[in-house]
Amino acid sequence: MRRCPQCRRETEWQDNPWRPFCSERCRIIDLGRWASEDYRIALFDDPDEVKFDLEDELAKSEES
Ligand SMILES: [Zn+2]
Repeated sequence: MRRCPQCRRETEWQDNPWRPFCSERCRIIDLGRWASEDYRIALFDDPDEVKFDLEDELAKSEES
């Protein structure tokens, strides 16, 4: 077992795509320290967000 450098929890090392971190979340937090702007953009580029915005726009156009 290794310790995650972000949250210090013991984490499985083998078959862990996020190593040396325990999870995607810890990896993003760590990267965010030096690339927070890039990550904010990446998070807003989520396809679910775009779909949600489109549905919101459709609802607005139906009202008027
Ligand atoms: Zn962690």
